[in-house]
Amino acid sequence: MASKRCYYEILQVSRTASETEIKRAYRKLAMKYHPDRNPGDKEAEEKFKEITEAYEVLSDPQKRAAYDQFGHAGVEGSGGGGGGYGAGGFGDIFDDLFGDIFGGRRQRGPRAGHDLQYDMEITLEQAAFGDTVEIRIPVRQSCEACGGTGAASPDAVKTCPTCGGAGQVRIQQGFFVVSQTCPACHGSGQIIAEPCPQCRGEGLVEKYKTLRIKVPAGVDNGDRVRLRGEGEPGEPGAPAGDLYVRFFIKPHPLFKRDGSNLLCEIPISFPTAALGGEVEIPTLDGKTTLLKIPAGTQSGQVFKLAGKGIKSVHTGRTGDLLCTVQIETPVKLTAEQRSLLEQFEATLAGRQHTHSPQAHSFWDKVKAFFSGDEGKKSQDQSPWES
Ligand SMILES: [Zn+2]
Ligand SMILES: [Zn+2]
Repeated sequence: MASKRCYYEILQVSRTASETEIKRAYRKLAMKYHPDRNPGDKEAEEKFKEITEAYEVLSDPQKRAAYDQFGHAGVEGSGGGGGGYGAGGFGDIFDDLFGDIFGGRRQRGPRAGHDLQYDMEITLEQAAFGDTVEIRIPVRQSCEACGGTGAASPDAVKTCPTCGGAGQVRIQQGFFVVSQTCPACHGSGQIIAEPCPQCRGEGLVEKYKTLRIKVPAGVDNGDRVRLRGEGEPGEPGAPAGDLYVRFFIKPHPLFKRDGSNLLCEIPISFPTAALGGEVEIPTLDGKTTLLKIPAGTQSGQVFKLAGKGIKSVHTGRTGDLLCTVQIETPVKLTAEQRSLLEQFEATLAGRQHTHSPQAHSFWDKVKAFFSGDEGKKSQDQSPWES
């Protein structure tokens, strides 16, 4: 321990080496000095321990920083202690880097197909009431020409000469014989001498398929339905993935949606607002309904039509239709209309308190704002006086 070499020197990298460079350097050296490759070689074993120790420190940003600042003393006892590398002592790092190289530890079966996602635009009406729609989606299907084998003809499928059809090869590593997935056929035991021209040997071709999708009533933006088995096909013997259809609702010219509620803005005339009355308003099902406007209605007031919203697919609760009233100021007045409004305006003089409660309370606040009360208050709170 007294004469420890510099970790950077051990891995033969510069002090400014990136994580990737360090990983690559370790990988290269570890391959060279791995005990399985150098059975009985004490020197190689020592070397291997040394580079693994160096890698453990330099691959960890915190330990590396400590090492850069304090040298070996900075990482003493935190894995850089040396000696502790028995069987499995470096297991974690080792599996990370070499799990697929040594011993074929990761045997894989046929791979299941990927799930696919399809984003679909629907109208607010379809979302509210449900619908059935057809979609055309591109899918990778098993190639008909070769039956998914990827071979030009049955004769083109040959037993893999490397492994003799076993899918595994055995390699001698010192005293050990290790089984490993055959690199030539990737474990299938067969190779294709002449690939299928239709799919270029992939066994899959891209095609369009038409699917009928049921849009459940009450779906909202981002809700999805799953079509089991309609995703990408799996490798032979493995299941296909699923297809997720995700809904997006197009903007509607009249209604906005807020959960299970529908929002709508209704313009009403100034006399209707003042005198009260009824207005015909649209509902999402294409019909109309009557909304009672009480006398003295103000702009921005919201009226609720209970149960005229959307029935949520999640909760089963039906929302409301919330109508926000906008009072429309009359424009392009005739001489007669102007005269009538002027007469009306004259009757309001001095009676704001009664007829225009909002304006009245607003001007009261304006007066208070400019009066001494407000001024005194701000003086008391002034931070500039000591
Ligand atoms: Zn084919
Ligand atoms: Zn093979």
